[in-house]
Amino acid sequence: RFITFEGGEGAGKSTQVKRLAARLEAQGLEVVTTREPGGSAGAESIRALVLNGEADRWSPVTETLLMYAARRDHIERVIRPALARGAWVICDRFADSTRAYQGAAGGTDPALIAALEAHILEDVRPDLTLVFDLPPEVGLERAHARAGAEMRFESKGMAFHQRLREGFRAIAAAEPQRCAVIDATAPMDAVEGAVWTAVSERLAV
Ligand code: C5P
Repeated sequence: RFITFEGGEGAGKSTQVKRLAARLEAQGLEVVTTREPGGSAGAESIRALVLNGEADRWSPVTETLLMYAARRDHIERVIRPALARGAWVICDRFADSTRAYQGAAGGTDPALIAALEAHILEDVRPDLTLVFDLPPEVGLERAHARAGAEMRFESKGMAFHQRLREGFRAIAAAEPQRCAVIDATAPMDAVEGAVWTAVSERLAV
């Protein structure tokens, strides 16, 4: 089984990835938790190229290609082998982040992104995607409290973050059988409960 977590800045995904992994492990399942951009040695090198430095170092199209180079390495070396041996894979961000960041918010042609998905993902598709939704002002406030890559996005302005949120919501609306929208403004324990409800109902754990 392959579960992905998606959403904008400061949504609290990484905390919930850990909590879900612990719950699944408590059921005796093998769980591999990973993240994007990154998740394999090569992909982590590409992550550093993309996230360190100026916000506009790469154009949205170039960023899309770098994200997909990283994703392909991550799939080949980590995700596909784990799924093949029957492990559950939980990934903090995946292909929907490219649709939302580089596509909906960045302006990359959706046809390019769709072509990359078809050629690069092949059959490695999430069984369930949890879309963490919250107003960008709330997320940026949280992200600000912690230093890191997010800082790069503050310069993009609120309009970028609005398009990002709408991009994620549009994905969830278009693919309701794959996606569950999680209210990320709720307290952490409530979010954990909502995640568990989605996972246990849809994936029959
Ligand atoms: O929020 P998280 O820590 O998962 O994301 C790491 C950074 O990578 C964030 O600043 C996010 O905005 C950025 N990112 C991106 N394009 C993607 C995926 C992540 O710009 N496709």
